[in-house]
Amino acid sequence: MKTEFFKPGTLEEALGLLDQFKENAVIVNGGTDIVEKIVSHEVEPEAIVYIRDIPECRGIEQNDGTLSIGGAVTYREIQESPLCTRIAGLIQAVSEIGSPPIRNVATPAGNIANAAPAADCNIMLLALEAEVVLACTGGERVVALQDIWLNPQETTIRKNELIRAIRIAIPSKDTSTAYVKMTRRKAQDISRVSVGVSLTLTGTFCQEIRIALGAVNKVPVRAYSLEKMMAGKEVETGLAEIRSVFPAEATPRKSYKKLVTNAVIERAIRKAYETIMAGGECIG
Ligand SMILES: Cc1cc2nc3c(=O)[nH]c(=O)nc-3n(C[C@H](O)[C@H](O)[C@H](O)COP(=O)(O)OP(=O)(O)OC[C@H]3O[C@@H](n4cnc5c(N)ncnc54)[C@H](O)[C@@H]3O)c2cc1C
Repeated sequence: MKTEFFKPGTLEEALGLLDQFKENAVIVNGGTDIVEKIVSHEVEPEAIVYIRDIPECRGIEQNDGTLSIGGAVTYREIQESPLCTRIAGLIQAVSEIGSPPIRNVATPAGNIANAAPAADCNIMLLALEAEVVLACTGGERVVALQDIWLNPQETTIRKNELIRAIRIAIPSKDTSTAYVKMTRRKAQDISRVSVGVSLTLTGTFCQEIRIALGAVNKVPVRAYSLEKMMAGKEVETGLAEIRSVFPAEATPRKSYKKLVTNAVIERAIRKAYETIMAGGECIG
């Protein structure tokens, strides 16, 4: 089958191509996941829609209390953005991805649409309660990130939609974020267990905590059960309580993950706690 390559210059043009080719179109962003699938014929599109240069998907902006990361923004651009570098957990998650050449081209939007349970950026974005702005020819809809993933490689994103932006509410000055990933190798390895945390304190008390888990379920999940146990408690007391309680939301198939998940959670919470006790990371 012949494959046509398109490099639309506007969002409207890109969405028109998705309408025209329907399920036979494939969006290529950084290409670090999808190109290999095209080359190996696992995916055989009639149309490749390369979205890299679409101005509406570029740039990182702050409006009031919301950070908006364009759907074609790369990990490297996030690492270099003064708006993002103030969210420590996001930078920690992004810095764990692949290697510098991968981060130069790969994108959080590709991570989200790819729906891998072990994907790094997704886990931190879940802890940040990110929203996804999905554009189609008729307009836009905004979906909570946790409602995007159904199964590995399966999402609620429709064939005529693309991720125009990812939105994050900027953490308050009492909030600190952290990301910890457990791998087999030190470099360039996918996570075996990963944890993203957003911790809001009143003094040394946990006012609110969000704990996102990667690679322990078919999709990234929030550990609501542990969040409830920690809320309102002094951090050390809460940590002592959750240390031996395996999160109900995690259903790993590999037994070793049952042994290490709580340790990774504690490490991530401590990392966020230490940051805020040392003066905080955030914008407020
Ligand atoms: C050597 C190597 C190491 C890696 N290491 C890691 C790692 O440590 N951690 C990790 O999480 N991942 C890793 N990855 C996977 C990959 O880099 C990430 O998933 C990356 O975020 C994908 O982004 P991309 O822009 O390259 O996506 P692409 O490959 O362009 O696209 C991936 C999927 O998303 C869809 N898509 C892309 N953008 C949009 C959009 N805006 N709207 C709708 N659909 C879209 C595409 O159609 C495709 O189905 C690695 C990959 C490689 C090759």
